Amino acid sequence: MSDCLFCSIVAGDIPATIVAECEHTIAFRDINPQAPVHILVIPRIHHPDIASLAAAEPVAAAALLTDARAIAEAEGFGHAYRLVFNTGAEAGQSVFHAHGHVLAGREFSWPPG
Ligand code: 5GP
Ligand code: ZN
Repeated sequence: MSDCLFCSIVAGDIPATIVAECEHTIAFRDINPQAPVHILVIPRIHHPDIASLAAAEPVAAAALLTDARAIAEAEGFGHAYRLVFNTGAEAGQSVFHAHGHVLAGREFSWPPG
C-alpha cells in the first residue's frame, strides 16, 4: 500500500534500523522504545493486523512468530521476552500494517494495565 508507513520501510523508502530479514518478514528497532529491547517484526506483505495476516498468509504469520523468538534470542533475551500485537485503535494499534512488538530487557507487569 503506497500510503502505509511500514510498507514504505519494507520498500526502503523510509529508513529504519533493520536487525533481521527473511523471505517473509523484516524486523527493525522501534522509533520510540518502551524497553531496552523494542523491535518490530512485520510481514513484507500488507495486511492490517495479525489476524488478517494469519487468515490470508499463514506461512508468513508463522514466520513472524518464529522470527520474533530468534530476534529475542539474538538480543540475549530468548528466555524472557514479551510479544505484543495491538489490534484495533482502542487496543493501542496506531500503524495498520501487521506487526509484533518484541520487548525485552526489563520486567513486565501482568496484567498489563
Ligand atoms: P502500534 O501502536 O501500532 O502497536 O505500534 C506502532 C509502533 O510503530 C509504535 O511503537 C511506534 O513507536 C512505531 N513507529 C511509528 N513510526 C515509526 C517509524 O517511522 N519508524 C519506526 N522504527 N517505528 C515507528
Ligand atoms: Zn503496509
